[in-house]
Amino acid sequence: MDNNIVYLLLGGNMGDRKLLLSQAVGLIGDKIGTVLKTSALYETAAWGKQDQAAFLNQAVMLATPLSASATLVQVQEIELELGRARIEKWGSRTIDIDIIFFNNEHIAEPGLTVPHPHMQDRNFVLVPLAEIAADYIHPLLHSAVAILQKQCKDTLEVNKYVS
Ligand code: ATP
Ligand code: CA
Ligand code: CA
Repeated sequence: MDNNIVYLLLGGNMGDRKLLLSQAVGLIGDKIGTVLKTSALYETAAWGKQDQAAFLNQAVMLATPLSASATLVQVQEIELELGRARIEKWGSRTIDIDIIFFNNEHIAEPGLTVPHPHMQDRNFVLVPLAEIAADYIHPLLHSAVAILQKQCKDTLEVNKYVS
């Protein structure tokens, strides 16, 4: 049974970004669970390190029978399958998949922190996520995603990607 509701944030800034996102969504459906919602694609200048290409990001909601740690294992396999090279922290990558929410659980394990600890600081997470989960309540901050988006101090512009 697909019991767990998970929100993922996908992003990449190398290669055919749009194709890689659609391949990632396909593999998520194959390996993790049932994809229930996907946001539009959004483009954002690189966060953290600015001397690199802009990212395309997409939020995905799915239902999965897997545990959070098993979901992370699958996510990392998909990243490797799509050619992710881990060159430097916050550097360019073909695909990055972060677990933003896992049900309304708070997980603090070595190698897995959920909700993602920086999601509330990043417009490139909040804008796509608000499109598919505006009313979802952050289990630690006790605010809806739409409210977190309004409160976010991030100045990087996030633009809906058309093409
Ligand atoms: P950031 O986490 O700031 O977005 P990043 O995505 O670039 O940075 P990565 O190099 O992709 O960081 O991941 C580093 C490690 O983060 C992974 O090996 C994974 O174990 C760990 N991690 C902890 N919490 C999560 C989460 N919620 N989703 C995905 N990975 C996580
Ligand atoms: Ca990330
Ligand atoms: Ca990551």
